[in-house]
Amino acid sequence: MQIAIDGPVGAGKSTIAKECAKRLGIVYMDTGALYRAVGVWCEENGVDAHSEEAVAAALPGISPEIQLSGRVQRVFINGDDITDRIRTPGASMLASKVSSYGSVRAFLLDLQRDFAAKNSVVMDGRDIGTVILPNADVKIFLSADSKERAKRRYNELIAKGADVNFDDVLADLEKRDKDDSSRACAPLKRAADAVLLDTTGNTFIESVDRVMEIINSKR
Ligand code: C5P
Repeated sequence: MQIAIDGPVGAGKSTIAKECAKRLGIVYMDTGALYRAVGVWCEENGVDAHSEEAVAAALPGISPEIQLSGRVQRVFINGDDITDRIRTPGASMLASKVSSYGSVRAFLLDLQRDFAAKNSVVMDGRDIGTVILPNADVKIFLSADSKERAKRRYNELIAKGADVNFDDVLADLEKRDKDDSSRACAPLKRAADAVLLDTTGNTFIESVDRVMEIINSKR
């Protein structure tokens, strides 16, 4: 079974997708982690993430891998577990930059498709329903008001002990959404056959229940 959940930053994709995968007894894959890992690897290895040419030239030397430790996804680059270094605001912006490059998207395509071919999966991202799994059994596009999304993201970062302020989180989120939606290659957009779900004002459990209803009505 392949379930594609796409949507903008902070729409609740990962927490909702994770819980639905648990209820369904299948695996969850966070595809954003791959773009984050490539962006952070570039920064740590002196590759200019703002130059597509430099990043594309580095790709043959990068070997990303996803491993599941129970239900927890870990991302490795060339054998190095990079998972704990990809959740900073800086990593978000690097991910957004490198994800706009066609070379990076093509590079990460097979890894995502192979994972879905081998596992029943709930996969979240920006282009899962449109590009990665165009034949997914269920496609959902999650959205919510941008202030509410920024508030959720801000609370998550504060809970992790990050030193951030709300206005910066909102500005980063709006910039990422704008860049992700306007890029030429695999932009963030709702697939024609995706169910649109606006989670503004919903509790986490309400959103999960609604997504489960959609999934159950399609399988
Ligand atoms: O989902 P997350 O916030 O971790 O994604 C980080 C960035 O990676 C996004 O802002 C987006 O630019 C990019 N991304 C993407 N396609 C995906 C998943 C993430 O372009 N399938």
